[in-house]
Amino acid sequence: MDAHPMKPHVGVVGAGFAGLRCADVLLASGFRVTILEARNRLGGRIYQERLPNGHLFDVGANWIHGTTDNPIMDLVRETKTPTGAWDNQTHVFDEDGQLLPLEEGEKYSTMMWNIIEDAFEYSNKHGSEIDPDRTLLDFFHEKIPERMPDTEAGYERQRRILVQMAELWGNFVGSPLSRQSLKFFWLEECIEGENLFCAGTYQRVLEKVAQPAVDGADIRYQTRVAEIHGKSTAQNNLARVKTTDGQVLEFDEVVVTCPLGWLKQNLDSFSPPLPDRLRQAIQNIGYGSLEKVYISFPTPFWLTPTPPQNRTIRGFCQWLSPRYAPASNPSHHLTESIELGSLGPAANGHPTLLFYTFGAQSAHLTASLRALPTPKEKTGFLAAYFRPYYSRLPGYRAQGPDCQPAAAFATDWLGDDLAGNGSYANFPRGLVEGDRDVAAMRAGVPAEGVWLAGEHTAPFVALGTVTGAYWSGEGVGRRVAAGCGRG
Ligand SMILES: Cc1cc2nc3c(=O)[nH]c(=O)nc-3n(C[C@H](O)[C@H](O)[C@H](O)COP(=O)(O)OP(=O)(O)OC[C@H]3O[C@@H](n4cnc5c(N)ncnc54)[C@H](O)[C@@H]3O)c2cc1C
Repeated sequence: MDAHPMKPHVGVVGAGFAGLRCADVLLASGFRVTILEARNRLGGRIYQERLPNGHLFDVGANWIHGTTDNPIMDLVRETKTPTGAWDNQTHVFDEDGQLLPLEEGEKYSTMMWNIIEDAFEYSNKHGSEIDPDRTLLDFFHEKIPERMPDTEAGYERQRRILVQMAELWGNFVGSPLSRQSLKFFWLEECIEGENLFCAGTYQRVLEKVAQPAVDGADIRYQTRVAEIHGKSTAQNNLARVKTTDGQVLEFDEVVVTCPLGWLKQNLDSFSPPLPDRLRQAIQNIGYGSLEKVYISFPTPFWLTPTPPQNRTIRGFCQWLSPRYAPASNPSHHLTESIELGSLGPAANGHPTLLFYTFGAQSAHLTASLRALPTPKEKTGFLAAYFRPYYSRLPGYRAQGPDCQPAAAFATDWLGDDLAGNGSYANFPRGLVEGDRDVAAMRAGVPAEGVWLAGEHTAPFVALGTVTGAYWSGEGVGRRVAAGCGRG
């Protein structure tokens, strides 16, 4: 006999923030919820690992994008999760590996962010007329000569530096600047307020978001969904999912929170086929490849003032297209790091540099690391690959014991099928109806009892973020509840 005769039963595929929040809303509205999660853990693209030297770190998200009316910020406060912010100082190494004077780095950084602001404004105002093939890089090429006229001494070098700094936009979206749609650049705008580093890691926030599901839902770990069948495919008006190990489970409604990259690769898992407009939407929206590398040292040597300039490095550091690492980096990929040492112990500071990579560099690093069998070899590879960069930091001594990497870790979201082999949604060149694509994904196929949630279906101000995933799950939970008269 059914132990829950009156409760509608919802299957939630995926236990990331979207799935967990959706489960919470449904449970609170009197539903029975079963979560089918392919991994053996909760959190999806939010989870933590420990470096061999004991430091806890986030493998996925680690920023809080926007502090105004952001429910994740509320959870950060509630869980007393420490956050970090650095002043806006940017330390920049030029192509030859020379650390630019602070004022010069600041000058380029300010110009770059001003042009980004202009691009947001332009995209917001003129989005409907902008040619879909125009990119953010095109916009930079147009604006840079206005800000750096050829009457300025050394303008060619300065323009080159500025374009390279702009290339680091790739670390926000996981794809190169030349692929960033200008028409839909406005979809990259975030919630108002600061960007805070989730220094204490997302661990406690995850526990808090997961608690209602842990208490009230039936969570089936290591249960990978292979097929999703809408209501019209069955006599009993129930939706069904089939798992890779052959189980068939029936639900009144199914909420699919698999990442966009997974949807792209598994369009044929749905029957009846998803409507054409929804299929197109899934294909049209881009999926980035951001990867992170943590390299930890015995001490944060970059914080020790070093003569003659007594310069230290706090916060962000950028290495523009290096000419000085031809063997390891023949394509001159630029890189960027934040240092966690200056956060201090109260904010989970540790003597670690966190490097961000995207696009071809991410692909190169993840593929190289996969080919290395042991953790020791992987650490050795990472230490050598990033040495041209960290060895330029003030305080570095080649033979100094404090300057030898003690531990390293690199993410491999590209190799993770359950993350859709990438990081999160973005908006590529050529996109014609990006906002409508997102709206189509958000709508799902309610008539079939098939709903989509996840960062790719979030409200426009939060696409691609933790907050967006949370809101998307909440939104679908409410719509499902309303559809069943339980809103
Ligand atoms: C490297 C990186 C850095 C990031 N940085 C930030 C940041 O600083 N700030 C920020 O706000 N956001 C950041 N993000 C994005 C943020 O992590 C995501 O937007 C958010 O976590 C997505 O949540 P979700 O619930 O939509 O998807 P997920 O967390 O991916 O959850 C989906 C779940 O579905 C499961 N699943 C997939 N396929 C199946 C299947 N077939 N059957 C069953 N289960 C399945 C997965 O295992 C997963 O648990 C980052 C992401 C990455 C990868």
